[in-house]
Amino acid sequence: MNDIQMRVPRNLVGRLLEQIYRLGPRESVVFAFASHARTGSRDLILLRDLAIPPESAFLPSRGHGARWSGAYMVDLLNRALEQQLGLFIFHAHIGAKAVVMSEDDRASARELLPKFQLVLPQRPHGSIVLGVESVAGAILMPDSDEAVERFSLRMIEEHEIRTWPLPTATPEEYLLLRRQPLAENRLLKKMLNQTVVAVVGLSGGGSQIVSQLATLGVGEIIGIDSQRADDSNRMATPNLGWIDSLFRLHKTTAAKWRVWVINRKVTFTGIKARVPERSALDALKRADIIVGCVNNLHARADLNEVAWRYCIPYVDIGLVLATDERAAVEPRPLTAIPGNLFTAIPGAPCLWCAEFLTEAKLERETGGRGRPYLRDPAGRDALVAPFNGTLASEAACEVLRLIAGLKFHREVRHQYDGLSGTLLEVEVTKRETCPLCKSVLASGDPIWQPIRQGG
Ligand SMILES: [Zn+2]
Ligand SMILES: [Zn+2]
Repeated sequence: MNDIQMRVPRNLVGRLLEQIYRLGPRESVVFAFASHARTGSRDLILLRDLAIPPESAFLPSRGHGARWSGAYMVDLLNRALEQQLGLFIFHAHIGAKAVVMSEDDRASARELLPKFQLVLPQRPHGSIVLGVESVAGAILMPDSDEAVERFSLRMIEEHEIRTWPLPTATPEEYLLLRRQPLAENRLLKKMLNQTVVAVVGLSGGGSQIVSQLATLGVGEIIGIDSQRADDSNRMATPNLGWIDSLFRLHKTTAAKWRVWVINRKVTFTGIKARVPERSALDALKRADIIVGCVNNLHARADLNEVAWRYCIPYVDIGLVLATDERAAVEPRPLTAIPGNLFTAIPGAPCLWCAEFLTEAKLERETGGRGRPYLRDPAGRDALVAPFNGTLASEAACEVLRLIAGLKFHREVRHQYDGLSGTLLEVEVTKRETCPLCKSVLASGDPIWQPIRQGG
C-alpha cells in the first residue's frame, strides 16, 4: 500500500496550529477540507481550507472529546459536497510527546468517517490528533472501508518543510539540528536522504544544481531534460564537457554519471521529456521540492501549477544576456546580465503574484517561440558557466534551507545582477485575486477530466 502524506500549505499552517493548541475550557477542534492525489509512491492529502467552529456549534460534553451539534455537521458536509472535498477533524492532545488516538477518538472516528464517506465517496476523510511534534489519527481513503492509522503530516512553512513524525534520533541530535542546522548530524542526513528533489532542465544551471544536491546526499534526484549535450553547453557549465558532447550524451545520462561519481548513495532518475509531457508531470508529482532551470515562461507556468496543485515548494532560477535591442549596430552591445531566483512556497506568493508571470509576458513569448537560451539575436554561445553557477548554488542553498529549517524572512524574490555580481531583494506580496493561489492551490488530482485551455 502507498504511504499517505497530508500537506498543509503555508497559508493554513499558522491558523491551524494556533487554533488547535489553544488552551480553553474544552479540547479545541478545527475542521478542514481536503483534496487528494496519487503519485507513484504516495497518496497525498492536500488541505484546501479550514473551518473554525463557532462557540454555538458545541454541545456540553461528558467525556474527553468535544461534541458538536448535528446542524453544524450538516452544514460542514454541505460545504464539503459543494466543493467536492474530503472532511477532516483536527484536535490536539496538548503536551503529548508521541501522540496516540484515545479510545474515545477511535470510537468517534469509527462512527463519523463512514458517514462522511457515504456523502462523498470519491474523497478521503479523517480524524487527526496532534501532539508535540507528533501526529496520529484515522484516515478513510476512497474505495476503502478500513481506516489507515499510519501517515505523515507535512507543514509547508515560510522557511522550512516540517514533516511529522520526525525521524527517530537522539535528543542530542535534535538539539544539534536546532542550534547548528548545518553541522554534520545523523538526523539531518536522514532528512536529506528522505527527500526527493526534481530538477527540471539539466543545462547550465540544472547540471550544477544536481552536483550540489548529490554532495548534500539528497535521497533521490529526478532530472528532467529531453536534450542531448552539445558543444554550446560547455560554456554554460563545467558539468557538460567535451566527452558528453563528443558522444552526444543525453543530459540525463551525463547527470546520472556525475551523481554516481560524487555520491553513490544518491539515486538519480532521468526523465527524457519536456514539461508538460505526461512522464515529466508524473515524476514532478513525486518530488518534495522542485527546482526549475528552464529557459521559457510557459514551462515556468506549468511548474508553478504543479507545485501549487500538490503543495511542493518550487525554486526557480534563470539567466539571460541582454543586449541593447534598439541598437542599429551588429553585434549589439551587452547591456545587462539579469538573473532570477525565486522560491515559491505553496500558500505564499506564487510567480503570478510576484508578476514574474503575466498573460502579456506569456503571449509575447508565444510570438517568439523557440528563442535561444541567451537573449542574443544571433543565438551566439556565451561564457556564462560561472553566472549559472552562482544561481545554481543559491538554488541548492534554498533546498538545504528548506530541509534544515534555516529561518529568515522569505517573502522576497532575488534579482541577480551578473554585471556587478549582486543579488537584490525584491519584495513580493500575495495577491488576493490571484487565480492560481485561489483555485489551484492544494487542488490535487482533478476528479474529472481537467479543462485545458489552448494547447
Ligand atoms: Zn483526543
Ligand atoms: Zn498567486
